[in-house]
Amino acid sequence: MAYRSPLDKYMDHDCERCSLAETTERVCVGGSGSIKKKTMIIGEAPGENETFTGRVFSGRAGKLLDTLLFEAGLDRDDCYVTNVVKCRPPENRRPDRVEFEACRVYLEREAKAVNPRWVLLLGNAALQAVARKSGITKQRGVRLRVKDPVWANRSVMATFHPAYILRNPGQHSTLAEDVKRFARMMRGEFQVVPVRSKYVNTVEGVRWLRKQLTDLAPGTVVSYDVENRGRPWERTEWDIVCLGLSWDGRTTYVVPLSHPESPFRKSWKKILAYLGPALRREDLKLVAQNGKHDNQQLAGAGVFLEHRFDIMLAAHLLDENRPKNLGFLSQSVLGADVYKGMVELKPDKIMKEPLRRICSYNGNDVGYTHQIYPRLREELLAQPRLTRLFAKLMMPASHVIQQVEAAGMYVDRKRLFHRMEILQGEIETRKEVLYEHVPRKMGEINFNSPQQLGVGFSLSGDWDSRHWRERRRVIRRLRKQSYSIITITPLSRPFSNTGRFSSNG
Ligand code: URA
Repeated sequence: MAYRSPLDKYMDHDCERCSLAETTERVCVGGSGSIKKKTMIIGEAPGENETFTGRVFSGRAGKLLDTLLFEAGLDRDDCYVTNVVKCRPPENRRPDRVEFEACRVYLEREAKAVNPRWVLLLGNAALQAVARKSGITKQRGVRLRVKDPVWANRSVMATFHPAYILRNPGQHSTLAEDVKRFARMMRGEFQVVPVRSKYVNTVEGVRWLRKQLTDLAPGTVVSYDVENRGRPWERTEWDIVCLGLSWDGRTTYVVPLSHPESPFRKSWKKILAYLGPALRREDLKLVAQNGKHDNQQLAGAGVFLEHRFDIMLAAHLLDENRPKNLGFLSQSVLGADVYKGMVELKPDKIMKEPLRRICSYNGNDVGYTHQIYPRLREELLAQPRLTRLFAKLMMPASHVIQQVEAAGMYVDRKRLFHRMEILQGEIETRKEVLYEHVPRKMGEINFNSPQQLGVGFSLSGDWDSRHWRERRRVIRRLRKQSYSIITITPLSRPFSNTGRFSSNG
């Protein structure tokens, strides 16, 4: 027997408010779970499984949702899970605005009955229908301000839809972290880590800053970050907009440099040259996120730094599948609010942003870098093998690359082009072999994307079939050859049921 929603009485199974009723096999699928625990999770629309079972999120996306809730310490049965649109759209296409509006009455009835304190929106459709906002990538992970009286005064958060993650497994950890943040928010643990940015925009201030740096005790951890426009080796339109520094992670000192509103816009290189020696102290422990980038920029202005700990590299070593950007790390490691996306950093936009906004953004970056550092360091130290790899290989390699990028490298162009031609030929041959094992319907494949390759291979037939054995043979042959155009290792194993790779090779 099909599942019956606890709020079935509010659904109209003869509804004809929109044309979806004409194509679906089950009209008006209500939500499932508890209506007493004041938690509501809202997805898009029922799919094939839900139409069959009558229970929302009962297919693959539902399984993933259950796992994520469980990992976050929540029980799906304690939440009321429902959809914005109550009928299955043909071919599972995205519901349109007319359909949202037609179903609004049902969703509002559910909201009144459940009266949720906490609402988790899954995907763009729910974000649009409830919060009337668009752009899930920008809006996800934070408490949203919702004006609609039905949803106002409730704690509303949005994240990716689990079905999207099944198609894009690379975003799995972002979704998992968001669900954990939602659970933390429910437990009242939702915290914003305070970082105070101080603007050092006078000559006396810069003098004071240099003195502070000079007086820091040996071994002090100093985090730093620059915002820039362009690259130093493309001399046109290259400059450093501001530099941020912090030695306690709570207060950051941001020196405005080339920005039109900065008092140092004409003398920014001199300011950097003045601060440089104090930063180059060997006994300070410099920490950065993707510091190679910042070092390159500073080297362009004559300040040569080598950081000792890079939180991007450490995060990669600890979990290669999670995003390494600072926005994600500060949310997942510190539980900080989303602050990325608040300024435009693109070269043609950055100078038009108000200086204060850029500086406070930069200040957050620097403060969070400082706060993330001890957490990742602790995680690394718990695994001596990784610690050695990090200290003896990753950081030195990063510095070598940095030096090559800053100082250049001799290249035998004739030999290089000759090798490139040979390599290109080999790549084409291997692509042909690989295409034989990928279903035609996938069309063009990006061979540099392990995800696309994994999907291609997993779609092409039964894992245990003769075809799979043949594919394994091809993969083994490819791995033996000296150059690899792709990371072959993940392909030799099927996806885990969350769709993530067990290893990146
Ligand atoms: N996707 C949804 O948005 N809702 C469901 O019920 C199932 C899949």
